[in-house]
Amino acid sequence: VPALFFSKVERRYPQGSGALEILRGAELAIWPGELVALVAPSGAGKSTLLHLAGLLERPDGGEVYIGGTPTATMADSERTRLRREEMGFVYQFHHLLPEFSALENVVMPQLIRGLGAKEAKSRATELLSFLGLKDRLIHRPAELSGGEQQRVAIARAVANGPRLLLADEPTGNLDPHTAGHVFGILLSLVRASGLAALVATHNMELAGRMDRRVTIRDGLIEQLA
Ligand code: ADP
Ligand code: ADP
Repeated sequence: VPALFFSKVERRYPQGSGALEILRGAELAIWPGELVALVAPSGAGKSTLLHLAGLLERPDGGEVYIGGTPTATMADSERTRLRREEMGFVYQFHHLLPEFSALENVVMPQLIRGLGAKEAKSRATELLSFLGLKDRLIHRPAELSGGEQQRVAIARAVANGPRLLLADEPTGNLDPHTAGHVFGILLSLVRASGLAALVATHNMELAGRMDRRVTIRDGLIEQLA
């Protein structure tokens, strides 16, 4: 089954006496192991689409399936559980906890999830090492470069083994060289884990390195060449 499936998704916001139609029957399927770029001009609805996929908003029509499970009319508590267990999020800014080390930042979500401390630490160490941060485990975010901070944020996002990674301009705050490097690492992580990823970006070079590109046009999701 697709990790993420939009079926005839509608989303509109009130505007004056009418409505601003952001999505009006959008279709999208992202399969395990696929890395899909979401490329669209500002205001087209990228954040709205990511919020719908991340179960932070509900569609006004249609259905959003996560791993085959319909979510549109699910109770908030169930949506929160699905979000915690099935999804990882990466944003433009890392949102790491400043007073904790890189390792602790990656251990934390696993403890919240109920994993034992020893297992969580071992998994966090393995992940951070995979991301090239073996020598940065005890550093706090302020002691890390921008690219390193973002790699820690990626490790945190996938620490609980989600089936879907949602990223909003994950390298948007990095210089082009570092962005290319961090993106390459993200790519190999997705490849190694078989997780599905939807990545919103303005960077056409990075978009070109993903498996597919989609855009939002007139409220529909379209494939780009
Ligand atoms: P993007 O991320 O592509 O820039 P957004 O999804 O943030 O686009 O927004 C799409 C459009 O919907 C914009 O015109 C925005 O002003 C509008 N919009 C977004 N959220 C709301 C909201 N909560 N209420 C009203 N309008 C909104
Ligand atoms: P980049 O060129 O990738 O932005 P920086 O010049 O910010 O990297 O940092 C280079 C190295 O120095 C990084 O590996 C980082 O871990 C380390 N570093 C940066 N700032 C600090 C700091 N305040 N304390 C300790 N180490 C730091």
